Amino acid sequence: MKILVADDDPTSRLIADMALRALGQECHTATDGIEAWDAFQALHPDVVLSDWMMPGMSGLELCRKIRSSATNTYPYLIMVTNRGAVDEILEGMNAGVDDYLVKPLNTEDLQARLIGASRVTGLHTQLATQRTELQGLNLELSAIARRDPLTGLGNRRALEEDLELLEARVTRYGHRYCMALLDVDLFKSYNDTYGHMAGDEILQAVAAELKAEARGGDALFRYGGEEFLCIFPEQSLAGGRLAVERMRSGVVKLSIPHTGSPTGVLTISGGVAVLDPGQSTSASAVLKAADEALYRAKQLGRNRVEQASSHAEVTG
Ligand code: GH3
Ligand code: MG
Ligand code: MG
Repeated sequence: MKILVADDDPTSRLIADMALRALGQECHTATDGIEAWDAFQALHPDVVLSDWMMPGMSGLELCRKIRSSATNTYPYLIMVTNRGAVDEILEGMNAGVDDYLVKPLNTEDLQARLIGASRVTGLHTQLATQRTELQGLNLELSAIARRDPLTGLGNRRALEEDLELLEARVTRYGHRYCMALLDVDLFKSYNDTYGHMAGDEILQAVAAELKAEARGGDALFRYGGEEFLCIFPEQSLAGGRLAVERMRSGVVKLSIPHTGSPTGVLTISGGVAVLDPGQSTSASAVLKAADEALYRAKQLGRNRVEQASSHAEVTG
């Protein structure tokens, strides 16, 4: 273990140093409380063996400082005193001291205390490792909970969480967002012709294509069975429409055969609306407007992109 000895008396320091080295420990020394505090911060020792009375900063103050410093590890604090009064020891324990030794130091006593120190610091290290692992697992879990397993896109839960943030950004910071709903055309017929498993693969292929066409800040979600939602930050309605048009034509270029489609290949339709800080719109009103535009795209023959015609439509 790495051990810091704080003592203003050179003889006591030397005795502690020699005893610790004889026990095979890594020993560092400080000649008063202030120097010990500096050394503690620089060295992060496992154990601090501190004298009670020291000029500048007493051993007790040093212990209080160490305990109140936010750290991931647990330094084991041993007070060395020639004043073994019980009330002083209690005061020390209350200040965060773990154990005490009475001067002059005795090697066996010191060795016994270090066995306890090693157990306690070992347990704390184990706890800290487990805590870090748990935090990592929690992060992984929340990422899994937000992801659609088939396509790897954000799921409905992620969308709901992100929409809340989005609305806050629009109202607080005046950001503008464009939102689009995209839906695979005649997908029921695709499943009926090629089977559900082939349908699943197509959903993955379409999702990958949408991802490939999306830009850095765009967010893509699987909104429902064969429906996707895309958020384009800072995009105007026209800009959003262009982006969705790119996605639509990208899917056509995949040339996935679909005998049930008039075009002979699998296509998608899109509906676009904008969430504008100038309008008193809510994210759900914009979503509704995008859905209505998508419905229009379907009615007008599919494989096309329609946009919400006016702000009046999205004012909620
Ligand atoms: P439209 O062009 O009007 O959108 O017609 P559509 O057939 O695509 O729409 P409809 O809503 O009638 O059918 C959607 C189909 O999508 C029905 C459902 O079985 C299928 N579907 C939903 N989720 C999945 C999925 O995870 N995998 C597969 N393979 N099919 C799915
Ligand atoms: Mg569909
Ligand atoms: Mg649908």
